[in-house]
Amino acid sequence: MSQSVPVETIIQGIPVSPGIAIAPIHVTARGFSAPEVYEVAEANLANEHQRFEDAIQRAKEELSEIQQRLAELSSEEESRIFEAHIMVLEDQALLKRVHHAIDERQQNAEYAFYAVMQNFLEAMRRIPDLYLRERTADIEDVCERVLNSFDSVHARKNIRPEDRHILIAYDLNPSDTATMDRSLVLGFATEMGSVNSHTAIIARSLGIPAVVGLEEAVIDITALTHAILDGYTGKLILHPTEATLNTYRMIEQKKLRARSALESLRDEESITRDGRGITLSANIGLLEELPAVKHSGATGIGLYRTEFLLLKEEQDALPAEAEQLEAYTTIAKAVSPHPVIIRTLDSGGDKLPAEPLSDPEPNPFLGWRGIRVSLDRPEIFKPQLRAALRASAHGKVALMFPLVSGLSEVMQAKAILRECMDELDHENIPFDANIQTGAMIEIPSAAIIADVLAKEVDFFSIGTNDLIQYTLAVDRVNPYVAELYRPTHPAVIRLIHRTIQAGAKEGIWTGICGEMAGDIRLTPLLIGLGVEELSVGPHQVPVVRKAIRSLSHAECSVMADDAMKSTYSADILRLTKDMAQKYYPDLFE
Ligand code: PEP
Ligand code: MG
Repeated sequence: MSQSVPVETIIQGIPVSPGIAIAPIHVTARGFSAPEVYEVAEANLANEHQRFEDAIQRAKEELSEIQQRLAELSSEEESRIFEAHIMVLEDQALLKRVHHAIDERQQNAEYAFYAVMQNFLEAMRRIPDLYLRERTADIEDVCERVLNSFDSVHARKNIRPEDRHILIAYDLNPSDTATMDRSLVLGFATEMGSVNSHTAIIARSLGIPAVVGLEEAVIDITALTHAILDGYTGKLILHPTEATLNTYRMIEQKKLRARSALESLRDEESITRDGRGITLSANIGLLEELPAVKHSGATGIGLYRTEFLLLKEEQDALPAEAEQLEAYTTIAKAVSPHPVIIRTLDSGGDKLPAEPLSDPEPNPFLGWRGIRVSLDRPEIFKPQLRAALRASAHGKVALMFPLVSGLSEVMQAKAILRECMDELDHENIPFDANIQTGAMIEIPSAAIIADVLAKEVDFFSIGTNDLIQYTLAVDRVNPYVAELYRPTHPAVIRLIHRTIQAGAKEGIWTGICGEMAGDIRLTPLLIGLGVEELSVGPHQVPVVRKAIRSLSHAECSVMADDAMKSTYSADILRLTKDMAQKYYPDLFE
């Protein structure tokens, strides 16, 4: 059977991290990892059919043996599980699909088997019936066995492809993304996810082009297909023609030229045309991002997300004080004389440790996360505070508390911080006794009582990613409600305004470290509302600097007053976007 000539196909998703990747596709499945995939000449396909039959036969023999052994050792009941496994391997429809896939794809038998099973499993995982969904674990088990039964020089590899590729997955968690080998994964596309998920935030931070919301991608897309991933517009282009490839190579060149022009301004101040200085800092989650921070010219780190240090996959326990001290000191020294704001652990929500700190929660975003965990678990909180304090002797360090909902949390956190200071004093360990502490404003209740909180902290940092989700009751990672996730919703704008005003009244500064800070359509609005600091992904720093330098604070303030009187998100967005496009149209090209 010969393959038909592939036709260029465009699949539209949601862009979450800009950039272009041109490479073959690799698809990862849930439950079991992919075997090696390679093309097979038509003349050798018969051999692949035989290899598949042999693997099935070997797997069946193994399963019968296990079944017999179990029947002797324990109950009939348990051995029946394996009878069911054997039945899967005798399913004629399934076997036929694999044979068909070998011919159709002209790829090795184990990969054809993997692809068919992966699609089958993915379909099963989406069945509403719980009993059927739970059976996927059995089928995954059978798949593993068959894949391990292939007898060939091309033995199964539990590794990622060695070639550079675009990764397609149902979903990726933030730690998958944080540990991605950048030299191999040129970009990724997932079915699930959203712009404000931590996966997307990390992708932007590491400069990995990414697209989410590609429906049925895992089921429909074949590995090795040559593709272009366009992280600017959210397109995945399969089998691109030479003309499309040339267009994209030109776009890439143009973007690179624009980027280096922006980067050449890195030493210029982030100050508006009428002289209002805005502190422009960077958000990081990994030490690997420090060179990018330096390169960006950011004035320090406005948000260091410590989750990736504390909840790394490969460790059994949280890193001890000494290990944290080393990381914090490295960062403090790297950004000195500028500050690093260390955010205390914000586990929970979509940032889950490999070894969970708690039982699964029915509603993790409303559950045990942020400062709640730290206050309940001093054995986690205190080493982190002590390490941050100790690092403050080596550079400018500030601390901030995530997910504050009320005053008592701030007071408790500060009391524990004082305890740590007393301990360090007793131990004669140096630290900055005037270390600044801030509250993240990311729950509406905190914004509403910002006047109260402002008396107890040195600064506010508005976490708009969560503030939007909690104000509008829209899950920030759920693509089904992404349309309702509106940063310019009047309620959000009023809460931001209220927070800034309350802070100013007490003489403390307010910054924004959520993703809104890096959205250049919104820079005029945020400056107009009176924000004093913007903390954005390192790659976004040069872009936001240019935006700030193009604007007039006075003009932004007038526009923000109008925005505060507007009743629709779309109207507010239009006001700020019009001003942005007027003053820096080039940044939108
Ligand atoms: C936020 O919520 O805006 C924020 C910066 O914190 P995170 O995205 O880590 O929850
Ligand atoms: Mg948050």
